[in-house]
Amino acid sequence: MYTAFLIKYAEIGVKGKNRYLFEDALVRQIKYALKKCDGGFAVRKTDGRIYVDALSDFDYDETVAALGRVFGISGICPMIYVEDEGFEKLGQDVVDYIGRVCPEGNRSFKVAARRARKNYPLNSMEMNAKLGGLILDACPGMRVDVHHPDILLNVEVRDKIYIYSETIPGPGGMPIGTGGRAMLLLSGGIDSPVAGWMIAKRGVRIDAVYFHAPPYTSERAKQKVVDLAEKVAAYTGPIRLHVINFTDIQLYIYDKCPHDELTIIMRRYMMRIAEHIAKEEECLGLITGESIGQVASQTMHSLMATDEVCGLPVYRPLIGFDKMDIVDIAEKIDTYETSIQPYEDCCTIFVAKHPVTKPNLNIIRRHEHNLDEKIDELVQTALDTAEVIVVQ
Ligand code: ATP
Ligand code: MG
Repeated sequence: MYTAFLIKYAEIGVKGKNRYLFEDALVRQIKYALKKCDGGFAVRKTDGRIYVDALSDFDYDETVAALGRVFGISGICPMIYVEDEGFEKLGQDVVDYIGRVCPEGNRSFKVAARRARKNYPLNSMEMNAKLGGLILDACPGMRVDVHHPDILLNVEVRDKIYIYSETIPGPGGMPIGTGGRAMLLLSGGIDSPVAGWMIAKRGVRIDAVYFHAPPYTSERAKQKVVDLAEKVAAYTGPIRLHVINFTDIQLYIYDKCPHDELTIIMRRYMMRIAEHIAKEEECLGLITGESIGQVASQTMHSLMATDEVCGLPVYRPLIGFDKMDIVDIAEKIDTYETSIQPYEDCCTIFVAKHPVTKPNLNIIRRHEHNLDEKIDELVQTALDTAEVIVVQ
C-alpha cells in the first residue's frame, strides 16, 4: 500500500553549517543501497527532509531491509501521498488508511496534523479534531490517547498530503563517506567484521586486508573472508580487499625467532604491512577486532608491542567488549553464521603452545633485528604480489 518513505536522521541534523554535506552523503548512500532493489526510486531532499519515492512497483520488505542498512538513518517511515481534493476526501483517505494499518480497529491513536502550506482551509488543531472524530465514527473500537498512542497518525499538508504512522528503526550512525577512510585487518573470525562495521557506522569508508598462508590455510578460508567482506559491504558499499600471501614471512619468523614470541612478531609484521597498504590507499587509520585480554596477543602489554610499529592510529572498537556482546552484534549484522564456519584462517603450526602475555619490547626488537634484510625482501614480495578483490 505504501508508495514512499520519509527518512529520519538524528545526529546528522545537528552538524550546523556542514549539515548539507551530511545530507548529500546520506542521499548518495540511499541511492546506492536502492540500486540493488527491484523497482525504480527517486530520492529527494526537500524542506530539510529526505524522501524516497517509489516510481514503480517495488518489493516492500527488500526495500525496507536495504534502507535499514544505510548508516545515518535513524528511522524509516513508510508513507502514502494523497492529492488534496478537499477535506471530505482527506477524511475518507485517513479512515481508509487506519483500516489498512489496523484492520482489527481496536487500538489507541492520536492524529498529528501539520500544515507546511498555511493556505489550507483548516488549521492543524481543527484537522486533528475532525480527522480524529471521523476515525472514531468509522471504527468504534478505536480510542484516542494523546500521551501514549499505539498509532501516531501523521497527516502533513504539503504539495500533496502525506500520511504515515509507522517508524521502523534504522541503524543510526553517520553516512559513509563523511568520516574519511580506514583499513580493516579482516580475518575469518567473529570480531574483525564487527569491528569494521562499527567504525563504518561512524561514517568511515573501509578497505580491508587479509593475510593468508597457503597451503597452510585453505582456499576455502580465503573465500570465507571474502564472504564476510561481502556481508560488511552490504552496509558500507564496495570494499577493496587486499589479500596478502603471508606464508614465507611466517615460515621465516618461525625459523628464526623463539616460538613463544611468534605471535607478537607476526602481528607486528601484519601491522607494518597493513599500514603500508593503508597509506597507499589514503587511509587515516587501521582497525582491528582486538579486545583486552581475549587472547595472549591482546593483553595490554601485547597491544603496546603491536602498536609500537604503527604510525597510523589503530582503532579497536571492541576493546572493552565481552565476546557475548560481540556475538550479539555479529548476529544482528548477519556475519555470525559465516564467521563460525570451521575454516581456520591461521594455521595451528604457527601458534605457540605458550605465547608470551607480557612481551618484553627489547627482546622482541632484538629478535626482529636478527631477521635482517631478508625479512624486508619478503615483506616487499608480499606487497608486490598482493591480490586486490573488490567486494560489493
Ligand atoms: P577475530 O578477531 O576476527 O575473531 P581472532 O579472534 O582469531 O579473529 P586474533 O587472531 O587474535 O583474533 O586477531 C586479532 C585481530 O587481528 C583480528 O580481530 C583482526 O583484526 C586481525 N587479524 C588476525 N588474523 C588476521 C588475518 N589472518 N588477516 C587479517 N587480519 C587478521
Ligand atoms: Mg578476536
